[in-house]
Amino acid sequence: MPEELKILDEKTDLPLLPLRGIVVFPTIIMNIDIGREISIAAVEEAMLHDHLIMLSAQKDPSIENPSPSQINKMGTVAQIRHVMKLPGGTMRIVVEGIQRASIESLNKKKAYFEASIIPYQPEIDLYDKQDDKVDAPVEEPDTPEKLNHEALMRAVVHQFEEWVKLRKKIPAEALISVVMVENSGHLCDMIASHVDLKAEDRQIILEILDPIKRLEKLYTILTRELQILNIEKKINNRVQKQIEKVQKDYYLREQMKAIRKELGEDTASESDNYRERLQDEDLPELVKKTIEKEINRLEKIPPASAETGVISTYIDWLFSLPWNKLDKERLDLARVEKTLNHDHCGLTKVKERILEYLAVRKLSHENKAPIICLVGPPGVGKTSLASSIAKATSRSFARASLGGIRDEAEIRGHRRTYVGALPGQIITALRRAKSRNPVFLLDEIDKMASDFRGDPTAAMLEVLDPEQNSTFTDHYIELPFDLSQVLWIVTANDLGAIPRPLRDRMEIVELPSYTAEEKFEIAKKHLIKKQLNYAGLTGVQLKFSSDALKKIIENYTRESGVRELERKISSICRKAAKQIVEEKQSSLKITAKNLADFLGRPLYTHTRAEDKPQIGVCTGMAWTSVGGDILPTEAIILKGKGHLILTGQLGKVMQESAQAGLSYIRSRYKELGLDPKFYEKNDIHIHLPEGAIPKDGPSAGITMATAMISALTGRKVRNDVAMTGEITLRGRVLPIGGLKEKTFAAYRENISTVILPKENERDLEDIDPKVKEHLIFIPVETMDEVLEHALVK
Ligand code: ADP
Repeated sequence: MPEELKILDEKTDLPLLPLRGIVVFPTIIMNIDIGREISIAAVEEAMLHDHLIMLSAQKDPSIENPSPSQINKMGTVAQIRHVMKLPGGTMRIVVEGIQRASIESLNKKKAYFEASIIPYQPEIDLYDKQDDKVDAPVEEPDTPEKLNHEALMRAVVHQFEEWVKLRKKIPAEALISVVMVENSGHLCDMIASHVDLKAEDRQIILEILDPIKRLEKLYTILTRELQILNIEKKINNRVQKQIEKVQKDYYLREQMKAIRKELGEDTASESDNYRERLQDEDLPELVKKTIEKEINRLEKIPPASAETGVISTYIDWLFSLPWNKLDKERLDLARVEKTLNHDHCGLTKVKERILEYLAVRKLSHENKAPIICLVGPPGVGKTSLASSIAKATSRSFARASLGGIRDEAEIRGHRRTYVGALPGQIITALRRAKSRNPVFLLDEIDKMASDFRGDPTAAMLEVLDPEQNSTFTDHYIELPFDLSQVLWIVTANDLGAIPRPLRDRMEIVELPSYTAEEKFEIAKKHLIKKQLNYAGLTGVQLKFSSDALKKIIENYTRESGVRELERKISSICRKAAKQIVEEKQSSLKITAKNLADFLGRPLYTHTRAEDKPQIGVCTGMAWTSVGGDILPTEAIILKGKGHLILTGQLGKVMQESAQAGLSYIRSRYKELGLDPKFYEKNDIHIHLPEGAIPKDGPSAGITMATAMISALTGRKVRNDVAMTGEITLRGRVLPIGGLKEKTFAAYRENISTVILPKENERDLEDIDPKVKEHLIFIPVETMDEVLEHALVK
């Protein structure tokens, strides 16, 4: 083999070795394995002469027998350094690139191509590849071109270094040898052959003769390669991390299981149970995702930490809510009517209203119907009507009591960031009801209060608003829950106390107080049966006489509804049960005579009205949310200095009302026949009984004035008259509220005549016919008229 490289400087004919997928650059030494006949023939031909061969890449490496047009024009003249025969007729040759050359033409010679080539001068002195310092280079002045050239070279070297760092496949010496190169064209060739570029890119570099352009091209190619490498690295890292995490988790979980097993604990962890449950249960997608997230969190924290409990409670809540559970509603009005009648006597109008309401709901198919609101004193059957509706429509029954709620969190729940946070009443009741469309009773909506912790009214508005309640979000649950299918029923004792915006959305159905006769009916038909049942007794074992029942109603209870009555009956049943068991009696009958044995002494032996006309005692009528009552008002005159003493816990308005009455009396002393200085030597004391109960309002104005006048003049007040009305300084009588319940109380207490403000006359329409039948109503405009009817002639 010749040691020295032969450099061509004129057109020459050389055998061609077509390369597949590789490009050989000048100065680069390379192994090439060959097997095709055209290649072997070309090498053999070259070996017969001066070992020179033309290397040029095929345009398409897959072609076995390329035609001349499929060979790239630009190639490299190389010297064959070594030939080695391999088994199977193939050969390995070692070639060293010398110079670029372009093929002018190709001629088929026997088995190979002969290329007629034009060689280009090598870029460095091939006999001293370090391209160096034989003649120390003459210092040239820095021109912009020179600086540009230098910058480009550095940039390319830098890119190459980056590439080596990322690729880590190239020995350090290669890097050093590249960095040492000063000739830019040569530098490009070196880098292009080290970096594993695509064959096309290498060919492009080979074809560029101008060194600056070659640098620029290489720079772009390298930049792109680096980007790809970087992305690849990121992907690799990510995949690696994921694999590591999965493996680690798996390993830890297995270890945990092993530890549990060793400790003799249940091997299935809480989170495993949750996961299993998650598979089985039918939940909305969003809920599933949230649970999944929480389970993942649960797995990451130690089982003994406080957080575990918090997360498990939350997951339990999410599992237990009736997200998709709907009761199959039966809206058969006949059935509802039958059930309502079966469970309640009387209440005809109320039942009718409820049926109408349900009919409208059925027809409209929309949930935009107003919400039904049952208003009435306690114990008149509001709750039990609502539960009957649920029963009759085959829906579940949910209930939340709003009385005393002042914090919106009681409705909407507390955020989970609070210690001990839980959902609000709405969600809690739905969980208990296990259905998304129950009949939902909101009790005592009039007793909600608001304070600095937020307004519960606003939260209730959202709950009841059909536009908003399909995405009701409890602060604790933090996921929207659909309340739009719920049938809301609201109750209140006092219509006036329901916040206005809520009232506007409701259809008000008023339940009146019961008369004694009605109570008797209810007790006979329902309460006794119910309580016997609770006590495990039969109608044969315990009987109530009608007289006994009447006596319970009259002497043991004083209420608008039948709650107390039911309680008394229940107490009798329990005592009777005890007697029957202990004394082996087979049956008992409760009569008016033995009633005291069961209930003790009667609580209310006489009516609160006076039994004869008195001086200084006048009967007023009061009304509270628990119903109406009569209110005997006392006034006496004492020696003193003109003070007005008021006792019985009177509110401010009531005190002023008494003052106004007194001033009116003073201004009318002549007409009333009083001493003009009556107040200078006397004190007047007004007292309202049941002093422990606060009372307020202007409606006792005329009552207090009448009592004072009676005490001052010594004229008696009729004991069968009750009155209500506000008084002005000039003695006019102004209207008041709650007439219905007030007159009901008067009727219950055997009053015969009711004096009421003229302007309240129109309210008489609403008054119960039975009450109207028994009472005489006297509408008045002035205090004079009051006195005319109230004082004994
Ligand atoms: P509210 O909710 O109005 O305070 P409830 O519904 O709790 O009153 O009624 C108290 C008790 O009286 C219940 O046991 C109920 O069944 C019974 N009750 C009330 N009114 C009637 C009625 N008209 N017929 C039968 N039972 C009644």
